[in-house]
Amino acid sequence: MRQEPVIAIKSLNHYYGKGSLKRQILFDINLEIYPGEIVIMTGPSGSGKTTLLSLIGGLRSVQEGSLKFLGVELFGSSQTQLVQIRRNIGYIFQAHNLLGFLSARQNVQMAVELNDKVSQNDAIAKAETMLTAVGLKNRVNYYPDNLSGGQKQRVAIARALVNNPPLVLADEPTAALDKQSGRDVVEIMQRLAKEQGTSILLVTHDNRILDIADRIVEMEDGLLARDSQSAVISYDAGAWSEKP
Ligand code: ADP
Ligand code: MG
Repeated sequence: MRQEPVIAIKSLNHYYGKGSLKRQILFDINLEIYPGEIVIMTGPSGSGKTTLLSLIGGLRSVQEGSLKFLGVELFGSSQTQLVQIRRNIGYIFQAHNLLGFLSARQNVQMAVELNDKVSQNDAIAKAETMLTAVGLKNRVNYYPDNLSGGQKQRVAIARALVNNPPLVLADEPTAALDKQSGRDVVEIMQRLAKEQGTSILLVTHDNRILDIADRIVEMEDGLLARDSQSAVISYDAGAWSEKP
């Protein structure tokens, strides 16, 4: 039996600007992402990758077409519904976006407390478990200023994954990192995603990390090129049949 997709996008268009300045950015996007799948999106700067990610993440309203998150239609949904969607998605950005006045543990803990009705002790325990999982057991009380770029991005991963969301969106998460830190960061994401059954949509320019993907899609001038066939075949969940 084929699993329900986490994300199902059909005939999605998007525009910026109004009146004579209105410009189409996304053209007839069709994309499905399945549970546990790691999809990498590549494509030149300005091709619309971040715009698509922000629509999927409920950070922007869908203007035209259909975008379903776990079966829930985002087209026409209210701001309240979008907030609800956002709670089910982990975000990792190019800049780590950690709060400088909070320790690594507090940054992750806050994400737990915003989401769950858990006791403070449980939130602390969850945060520390997650930081251990990303290899920062000895850095839980460090502030972002005292962490390297790679370590900060690992805290951001811990924060994105601590609530075990069905989907993580990562926008060029290795762009500011050196080669080895970048590699470490995506390998940690890959391992945790597979352990938790999380789907990941990761935008990158970094050709060196393409091998962590189950599937690679390419954006060009607002059009999503056909999925890479080989990666579709290599996705070995066994729970769903290949696309026609
Ligand atoms: P990418 O992430 O692939 O670099 P973006 O989605 O950021 O592409 O941008 C796609 C196009 O939309 C670019 O031409 C960019 O200049 C334009 N754009 C992005 N954000 C906005 C915005 N908020 N308002 C108007 N134009 C925008
Ligand atoms: Mg971008």
